[in-house]
Order: sequence, then structure tokens, then C-alpha cells
Amino acid sequence: MQKYQMLIDGRWCDPSSSQWFETAEPFSGRPWALIPRGERTDADRAVDAAYRAFKAPAWAKLTGTARGALLRKLADLIEHNVELLGTIEQRDNGKLIAEVSGQVRNVAQWFHYYAGLADKIEGAVVPINKAGVFNYVKYEPLGVVAAITPWNSPLALTTWKMAPALAAGNTIVIKPSEFTSASLLELGRLALEAGFPAGVVNVVTGYGPEVGEPLVTHPRVAKVAFTGGAAGGRAVNLAAAADFKSVTLELGGKSPNIVFDDADLDQAVKGAISGVFGASGQTCMAGSRLLLQESIHDAFVEKLVVAVREAKIGDPSRMETQIGPIATRAQWEKVLRMIEMAKAEGATCVLGGHPLEGPEFGQGQFVAPTIFTNVSNSMRIAQEEVFGPVLCILKFKDDAEAIRIANDVEYGLAAAVWTQNLQRALDSVDQLEAGTVWVNNYRATSFTTPFGGYKHSGLGREGGTEAIKEYLQAKSVWITTRPNRANPFVLG
Ligand code: NAD
Repeated sequence: MQKYQMLIDGRWCDPSSSQWFETAEPFSGRPWALIPRGERTDADRAVDAAYRAFKAPAWAKLTGTARGALLRKLADLIEHNVELLGTIEQRDNGKLIAEVSGQVRNVAQWFHYYAGLADKIEGAVVPINKAGVFNYVKYEPLGVVAAITPWNSPLALTTWKMAPALAAGNTIVIKPSEFTSASLLELGRLALEAGFPAGVVNVVTGYGPEVGEPLVTHPRVAKVAFTGGAAGGRAVNLAAAADFKSVTLELGGKSPNIVFDDADLDQAVKGAISGVFGASGQTCMAGSRLLLQESIHDAFVEKLVVAVREAKIGDPSRMETQIGPIATRAQWEKVLRMIEMAKAEGATCVLGGHPLEGPEFGQGQFVAPTIFTNVSNSMRIAQEEVFGPVLCILKFKDDAEAIRIANDVEYGLAAAVWTQNLQRALDSVDQLEAGTVWVNNYRATSFTTPFGGYKHSGLGREGGTEAIKEYLQAKSVWITTRPNRANPFVLG
């Protein structure tokens, strides 16, 4: 079994607790690696190292172009290690092997994109309404960034923070999920190999209260970038507020996928499937509420059930598998509890609704893809995030009702509309309360465009040029160009 160490100040080290915990494959249940159980002392050491690195000329005096070159080197190393990184993510959280190498390549693209932005952080010369002064605005990094990430897409969701943070000139302490730390320790190794100075990239592993919380409350952490659930997000936001830290939160969702009666139904069926059954529903942007216009409801449900029934479920390391296991035992139990809750609330289960057992399902951490009809939007199953392969179907009469139901939820991460009518699509885009809206599409993302939540789905944005601003602060500089003869006691 592989025994990992943590990366602090450019060196590999054991945790001060001298304890490790096992990380296991969701499919087989086999533990395959030992992860260091970090604690406050380790978090403190990592932040101190990141702070020193932030101030040291080896990083602070680098030009944006030189930072970009380091990020490009890291991107190249990720591309050379696609297989290794993909295998680790696949083992750790049960991702499909068919999907994972594409995701790792995409991570490399994120680093390339922000490498390009590193020397394009331009300030501005500001026309001032006073004579004899010259003013310009420059953008500076914040300092030490703590990046706290979940288990569903460890490399991707960390890269969304790390690439813009480093491009902007910050240093970083990464706290991976306790369930999926290994790929981020490997990413740390690649960052060292790329030549980032000691302390610029640190990875401290362990549990939320033991490592995450000490990072959030450390006075030398300037910014917390968090992806995870609402409870963790709220705790992080409240703790960070004590020191007025800047915070980015990417939280959960209950995203509506709206199909109007004029949609291309075959395409919309595919979109409904990839929306909620891709990654076994373990994505924040899952299209977990399918809103169908009354006139197409029955035909659509029939097509959907037929298509999902055919899905190949099983070992995620086989190329043909379409639906894999649930990543953690606790999450598997939660998904099953929520299915029982939906049944008790009166929703009709037209597909699945149970765990899957048998030799093809490994140690049994599988949930059958599940579809509920007769769901009303006030049911808990329509309001609460499941984070599993569970779809709720709701009916609507007209456009106004579709939008009302779509927005009637505390989340606002994403939404989709399926229609051939451009006006209907654009009207929906304007009215939907969501940080991402897809038209005749579901789950497209890119490093070139911002991603983030309205309402309880989060604060701030990741991706695109928006994201780099989340890691910068403006400094307004005043230069006197002509001596000021005004009365110094009176503000002019
Ligand atoms: P989680 O909130 O339990 O944990 C996320 C991370 O926070 C972990 O590293 C955990 O150790 C740490 N943590 C937990 N409590 C903490 C605390 N008090 N202080 C500091 N750190 C703490 O989330 P999870 O179960 O790992 O992930 C699933 C959740 O993530 C879902 O709700 C999902 O919607 C959300 N998610 C959101 C996005 C997005 O971009 N919006 C993407 C993926 C996942």
C-alpha cells in the first residue's frame, strides 16, 4: 500500500500526529493508500511557509511572464502524467475510466489558460477630476490562499482555484477532501518538479475540523476558496468573516432542466441523462429537477426510462461502463435515505429506487439510476440536493409556470432550457436565477467562462477572466505632478 507524505515548504513530511488514514476504492472497497492525518500544527507550518514564500523575492519579484512559464511547465507535466493522475482519481472516487483522462487533460488546459493570463493583469490610468495629480490603479495578489475542496472532482475543482491564484501571484495551501487526497499530493509533486519555489504550493491532508478549520481561521490566510456542501460553506464563511477574509464559495445545487413542448426531444432526453446520471449524479451542477411541459410529459418519461434502463452499470475501470459507484459509504447511505424519503412523500418511482447488489457491483456501493414522477416542488426531494443518480420530474403548463418552479428553490447554480424558439430561450435565460444557463445543452463548462452560484449556491466565480479578479486587490496610486498651494488644513 502506498504511504503518502504531505508537501510543506517544498519538502515532503510526515504529519505531526504521526497518524495516517486509509483511502479506499469505492468499487472494490479495498484500501489502496495511506494518507497523512494532518492537524493544526501542520496547517500552521504550511501557512507560515506560504506566507514566507509570498514575501520572498524568488516568487514576489517574478514577472507575470515568468509565473506564466511555470504554470505552462506544470500544465505540460500534467499532460505527461494523464494516465497516472487519471488512475488515481478513478481509484479514489470511482470515476469512470472512460471519462477521467479527458478530465485530466482538461485540467492541463486550465493551467495553460491561466498561464496566458499571468502577464495580462493590467491596471488602468484613471482620469481624475483634480488638477496636478496623476492616478493609476494596479492589481496586486492577496497573499496566502487556502483552497479547500471536495471528493467528487478533486483535481479539477482544485485547479479552478490554484491556476488563477498562482497566475495572480498568490501562494497556496491546498486541503483536499479526506476521501480523495492522493491525486492532489501528486499534483503537488508535479508543481515541485515544474520549479515553483518552496512554499508557493503546499498540500496538507486531513479532516475538515482538524486541518480545514485551522486554515480558515489562520490570521495569515488572506483568502479562502472553498468548494463543498452548504454546511461546510456556511461554517467557512462565518469563520473567515472574523478576520474579514475574502471568500469564494462553490456550493451545491438543485438545478432545473426545463423541456418545452417544441424541443428536439431526443436531444433533450440525452441532456436529461447526462445532466443527472453523469458521474452517478455526484456533481454540483446535476440537473436533478427535470421540468416537462404537460403535453410532452408522458412520451418524454417513456423515452427516458427506456434509455436509462439500458445503461451499463458496474466497474468504473472498464471502458464500457456508463454509471459507476457512489464515492463514499456515507454518501451511498444518504442517497438511499433520500430515495425512501421521496417515496414516503408520495412521489412515484418509475425506475430504480434501490441499491444494486451482485458480483458486477463490487462491494455494493451502487444505487440504481432512479426516476421519480408526480413530484411537487414543495417536496423535500425537489428542494434538497441528493448528490446521486436520482431524478425528480415535475410538470408545468406554460413558460411562466416553468420559470416559477425553476426559481422556487434556495439554490441557483445552473439551469437548462430545451426549445427551438429563440425568443423563448432568451426570455428564460433572463428570468432564471442561476450562475450558468444552458440552451439545448447540459453540463458544458470551460476555463474560458465563469462558473458559480446565485443564492445559496455560492459566492464569487471560478473560470475565465472573472476568476483571476477573485485573487487580486486594487491599489489606487496618487502622484502629485504640480505643487499644491491650497490651504493644507482644508481638504480640496
Ligand atoms: P464537504 O462540505 O463535506 O467538504 C468539502 C471540503 O471541506 C472537504 O475538504 C472537507 O474536509 C472540508 N471541510 C468540511 N468542513 C469544514 C470546516 N468546518 N472548515 C473547513 N473545511 C471543512 O463537501 P463534500 O461532501 O466533500 O462534497 C460534496 C458537496 O460539494 C456537495 O454539496 C456539492 O454540491 C458540492 N460541490 C460544489 C461544486 C461547485 O462548484 N459548486 C462542485 C463540486 C461539489
